[in-house]
Amino acid sequence: MNENPGKTHPTKGSAMKEDPAKGSTMKDTCAGSEWTSRYASSLMNTFGTPALVLTKGEGAYLEDAEGKRYLDLLGGIAVNALGHCHPKVVAAIEEQARSLGHVSNFFATEPQIRLAEKILNIVEPGGAPEGSRVFLANSGTEANEAALKIVKAHGLAVSPEKTRVLALEHAFHGRTLGALSLTWKERYRTPFAPLIPNVEFIAANDPEALEAAISDDVAGIFVEVIQGEAGVHELDASYLSLVRELSRAHNALMVVDEVQTGIGRTGDWMGHHASGIVPDVVTLAKGLGAGMPIGACVALGECANVLGPGMHGTTFGGNPICAAAALALLDTLEEEGVLSCVKELSGTWRAELALIEGVAEVRGRGMLIGLDFIRDIAAELVEVGRRAGFILNATGPHTLRLAPPLIMNAEQAASFTKALPRLIVEATGLKEKSR
Ligand SMILES: *Cc1c(COP(=O)(O)O)cnc(C)c1O
Repeated sequence: MNENPGKTHPTKGSAMKEDPAKGSTMKDTCAGSEWTSRYASSLMNTFGTPALVLTKGEGAYLEDAEGKRYLDLLGGIAVNALGHCHPKVVAAIEEQARSLGHVSNFFATEPQIRLAEKILNIVEPGGAPEGSRVFLANSGTEANEAALKIVKAHGLAVSPEKTRVLALEHAFHGRTLGALSLTWKERYRTPFAPLIPNVEFIAANDPEALEAAISDDVAGIFVEVIQGEAGVHELDASYLSLVRELSRAHNALMVVDEVQTGIGRTGDWMGHHASGIVPDVVTLAKGLGAGMPIGACVALGECANVLGPGMHGTTFGGNPICAAAALALLDTLEEEGVLSCVKELSGTWRAELALIEGVAEVRGRGMLIGLDFIRDIAAELVEVGRRAGFILNATGPHTLRLAPPLIMNAEQAASFTKALPRLIVEATGLKEKSR
């Protein structure tokens, strides 16, 4: 390969020197507030205008356009397992980008194969059952689209009447139309009705509702072991076992959406490991790519044959650079024993958080923690937290979700615990003022 591309192809830097008049190639600097207005006039208004423009990240910290540092307690929404710009991930991306970037799924690549093998090793405690296979996608919603296709095709292969799909109230499975059909929130659904028919929502953790709904015409049931977007609400292990038992009895596929709970987030490789069940399909994304966009639909055992040639596809899925980043992440989590640290820190941290005045309840496992407050101050906490140097996320009026990097250390966790009483007072004051 060309060792000195700068000679024949000017780098961005030298192009800037040659033609400083060209606005788009000039070093483009402006203040944070100016970036915010440029954001608002160039990006579609689907997220609102973010309060922060971030420029750098290192470990569990982020830095904004003004040079202010934040402890990242959101981790890119349960994504940045190794924090920001982890040297092993950066090196893997760099090396892969230099050798092979993208080729499409008309061809196989080594990182894609290694990653699928690795996922099959960790998806169940003793490795995936015989015959299991992986479909690599680009996001969580796409992993669930693949799972939904498996469920639908499985049902129709058994009987034309086997078309019902069950999902749980308060579920979040993604925003594309198939996954949205499995997502509970009315506000997300109604502008796009009608969605996929035959999806029925049943109350979570309610054995009777499940027994009433399940029958031989159910093709599959989707569950999250911990409902993350809903505010970190966990399914009982006994309920998961019942879903397993009844879905098997009615030849319905049990899909466990581990997009948020997988890849060590709970302190186990997968959130469902603690319950001992073996699902038919597991979906992954968020934490899998160390920040690179990647998702996976893992079909365990027989249902891995449901999707045959031509039944599903993707241009980017399994992209070598994303796969290389995922491999570096999985290796690092293993080599550095990160998961046992997650379990240890989580236990003490949750116990300390529960003692703070104004905290009503602490839920969750590992580095996926839901904090309920006695007052509706979550939005205000996000704001005062930001001023104090903490990235926080509210999932409801009185609920914060903490999903920091898995490598966050005890000292960093303690800095938040220590600040929280003051943040609660400030947030309560802010709330009162805005009345
Ligand atoms: C985030 C999330 C999704 C959607 O993932 P995207 O990558 O945003 O499409 C699906 N399921 C669960 C449980 C999630 O937390």
